[in-house]
Amino acid sequence: MRQSIQLLTPYKVKPEFDMVRLDSNEAFMSLLSSADFSKLGETLINRYPAESSDRLVEAYARFAGFPEGNILPGNGSDELISLISQYALDPGDEVIVFEPDFSMYEKNALIMGAEVTKIQLNDDFTLPLEVVKSEINERKPRLLFLSNPNNPTGQLYSEAEIEELIAAMNQIGGILVLDEAYMDFAGESPFTGRVLEYDNLIILRTASKALGMAALRLGFLIANDRLVEGISCIKPPYNVNTISALIGTQLMEKADVLDQFLLLQLEQIAELEEIMSAFAAQIKEAYLYPSSTNFFLMKFTRARELANFLYEKRIKIRFFDDESLQAVRISAGTKEEHDSLRAALNEWSEMYA
Ligand SMILES: *Cc1c(COP(=O)(O)O)cnc(C)c1O
Repeated sequence: MRQSIQLLTPYKVKPEFDMVRLDSNEAFMSLLSSADFSKLGETLINRYPAESSDRLVEAYARFAGFPEGNILPGNGSDELISLISQYALDPGDEVIVFEPDFSMYEKNALIMGAEVTKIQLNDDFTLPLEVVKSEINERKPRLLFLSNPNNPTGQLYSEAEIEELIAAMNQIGGILVLDEAYMDFAGESPFTGRVLEYDNLIILRTASKALGMAALRLGFLIANDRLVEGISCIKPPYNVNTISALIGTQLMEKADVLDQFLLLQLEQIAELEEIMSAFAAQIKEAYLYPSSTNFFLMKFTRARELANFLYEKRIKIRFFDDESLQAVRISAGTKEEHDSLRAALNEWSEMYA
C-alpha cells in the first residue's frame, strides 16, 4: 500500500432500506416508471457502451443547456472528481478545499499524494475571500475544489465571489472545480452559458440529486476543449454503462417530467424548512442555516444525541460531531416521512426543551 493512502478509511454506508432515509440528500422518489422499458429489449448488452453514452451526453446537453462537445460523462461525479485529480496532480502538488465541504475532494487529492490545505469557512459559512486569495497566491494550488451550493452548509455563493476565485486561480495557472451538484434547487447557474470563456474552470453536475437518479451513477464534467481533451486521455473508455445511459437519456428527454419533479421537491423542501424552523425555535442552542439545496443544516451541540434518538425511531439523518462542526443535516423527504420526522422532533423537544 502506498504511503500517501495509508490513513484513508472506507466510505461506509450501511444499507438500511427499511428506514426513513434523510441522510444522503438523494431525491425521495423514483422516476423509473416514466422510462420506457420496451427500448431495453433493443439494447445490445453484448457490445461495449459507446453509442449509449454519446446519446446520454446529447440528451443532457439539451436538458441542461451546455455545449454537447464539452461534456464528459462519468460513473457519478465521484469518478469525475477522481479523474480531475489524476489529470492535474503530481505528488506534492498543492490543493485547496474548504471546511466544511464535500469530503471526496480531499480524499482524491490525498490519493494522488497531493498536499491539501483546508480553509475554514467563516462562522456564517460565507467564503473568507481575502484568506482564500492570499492562500492561492502563497501556495499556488493546481486545483481548488468547492461545491456551490455547498454541501453540507446549503449556502449558495455569489457569481461575483466565484468569479474572484476563478481569476485568482487563473493568475497562478490553477484550475477551479465548481461542483454544482445542488444547483438545480437554487436556480440557473450564471456559469452555464459561459463555461467555455474560461481557461481554468471545470463545472461538475450530477443526476444523483434533483434528477433523482443516484442509483444510475451519472455525473457530468463540463469545461473548455483543452481541458475536456486532456481529461479524455485518462478517462476509462466505457465508464458509463448502457443500462444507466439508456434510462438516464429517456428521463432527460422528458424535461416536463423532470421539471414537475423539481417543483414537487421544492414544495417538500419548503415543508422541511417549516418543520426544522419550528424545532430550532424551541431548542435554545440550535441554529438553522438558510439553504439553497434539498437539505438543511442545523447547528446543534447535541447533534450526535439527536441523530441517535431519531435512529431509534427508524429515521436516519447525517450528523457532524467534531471540533469544527457540531450539526445535523437533514434532507427533504415525502409528506409521510416528514410526518414521522415532525413527530419525533416534537417528542425530543418535549423531553429536552
Ligand atoms: C451528492 C454529491 C455529489 C454527487 O456525486 P455522484 O457521484 O454524482 O452521485 C457530488 N458533489 C457533491 C457536493 C454532492 O453532495
